[in-house]
Amino acid sequence: MKTTRKLALSVAVSLGVLAASPGLGEETTPPATPEDNDPPKLVLAISVDQFSADLFAQYRQTYTGGLKRLANAIVFPSGYQSHAATETCPGHSTIMTGSNPARTGIVANDWVDQSAARADKIIYCAEDEREAGTDHRNYVESAVHLLVPTLGERLKAISPASRNVAVSGKDRAALMMGGNNVDAIYFWKKGRFVTLKGRTVEPGVERINAELAPVFAAPDPDGLSVPESCRHLNQAIPVKDGGTVGTYHFNRPGAVDGAFRASPALDAWTVRVAEQVIDDMKLGQGKVPDVLSLGLSATDYIGHSFGNEGVEMCIQQASLDQTLEGLFSFLDAKGIDYMVMLTADHGGHDLPERVAMQAYPSATRIDDKLTADDIGAAIAADLGLSDGVKPLLARGPIGDFYLNRDLSGEMRDKVRAAAITRLKEYPQVAAVFDARELAQVPLPTGPVEEWTLEERARASFYAPRSGDIIVLLRKAVTPIAHPGPGYVATHGSPYDYDRRVPILFWRKGLSPFEQPLSVRTVDIEPTLAPFVGVTIPQGDIDGRCLDLDAGAASTCGLEPVTN
Ligand SMILES: [Zn+2]
Repeated sequence: MKTTRKLALSVAVSLGVLAASPGLGEETTPPATPEDNDPPKLVLAISVDQFSADLFAQYRQTYTGGLKRLANAIVFPSGYQSHAATETCPGHSTIMTGSNPARTGIVANDWVDQSAARADKIIYCAEDEREAGTDHRNYVESAVHLLVPTLGERLKAISPASRNVAVSGKDRAALMMGGNNVDAIYFWKKGRFVTLKGRTVEPGVERINAELAPVFAAPDPDGLSVPESCRHLNQAIPVKDGGTVGTYHFNRPGAVDGAFRASPALDAWTVRVAEQVIDDMKLGQGKVPDVLSLGLSATDYIGHSFGNEGVEMCIQQASLDQTLEGLFSFLDAKGIDYMVMLTADHGGHDLPERVAMQAYPSATRIDDKLTADDIGAAIAADLGLSDGVKPLLARGPIGDFYLNRDLSGEMRDKVRAAAITRLKEYPQVAAVFDARELAQVPLPTGPVEEWTLEERARASFYAPRSGDIIVLLRKAVTPIAHPGPGYVATHGSPYDYDRRVPILFWRKGLSPFEQPLSVRTVDIEPTLAPFVGVTIPQGDIDGRCLDLDAGAASTCGLEPVTN
């Protein structure tokens, strides 16, 4: 970038903002090779689910494909999903909105809403629970709970011809990155790619579904070859309650959704769909910029199924690298002028059995009595509540605990006090926060790695949806008491292994640099916005623009940037 003013001017011309500029109204497609200051015609925002900064650091030297290109571009190795609730939906809600979950309203993958009109009071983050006959497992996909606009939505507001598209292996990733106003959206659902209720799967994507069907149905008895660099990891690790992980090569059975999802094939087919949509909609080939959000979910399913330090993740890293290489080559071959951002919705923690074997013996699984039901039952007995009354409601062993609204206000106060006292007695519990106090904590600023646990919890606290009590576990305590197939390891903690993610940018003409100081995923939207001419009003978001110019110029627009 030569000057920021030239960047902004060229964006304005491209979007038709300067009505008197020559060339407007011509139907010509811009040249494939950009001038330094031309806006990209396609912003490709990629989230690799559970791609921790630790994984990026561990595998960085092994990449030879698409990830190598990104690892040698503009690298923020200490990106942060800065909040405590490091789950998929909150994490994805930060990436394209510039906002903490406290502002996006996406406090967890699921929360409890005791005022919900339907019988099931558990709300899935990416559903519309007002749809008749739904529950949180059989839901109608929607971004209605996302309270803030995405970059693609902001772009469409000033440039109606721009397209905002999302494709992902998970509905919640596509919806949280795309938002409510999407021109096309596809996500994986039980063996095929589908779209939102009331929309049609276009013929090109249906052709891919038809091609995918026999692949999905057939077993893959040979599995994948193990790269030389992965062979030392091929070691069976016994998992609590039976079975082992660490030696699986994706020789999967046929027609098993969980096995297909937890394999590199999911990402490869997701990218196939993205490429089809790029072709069908001619994304990045018009006069104005488009935004494509791409959620690659296999890394997360593999991490949950096998942990992230075994041969399975090693094979996945090599596969992901090649899948991304294929996508970038596809865009290059079409001459599309594009820009790439890649990050993750959260990091991840290996299964405690392997962590404990490998120099961290205190790694463990959560006490199976540390649940809202067990603690609630003890409190109910103490307080003489009627049989069957559950004073505490929760969606899991950590995070948000809700006081039963059927109890009187006085009784709720007693339950709250008793629950906080009991929770603090568990040695595995690091912190317990009363929502009334958490709501008074200012949203934190300053280096994210120095935030207190309370500040981290504050960043994913939104009073209308968060619990009355927030529970955080100690480091290296895995909140899965009883592992099973597909679920031996997880994320969701307020610690760096779950919070730290890489944030990578690539664009032709931008010089590479690496900035090891901490930045945040909420900085991504305001960083991308100036490239497509979007101005975000001050105070609208939590992030700041990261200047991607390696020298004295700035990519952050005309306004002075405050750090
Ligand atoms: Zn995730």
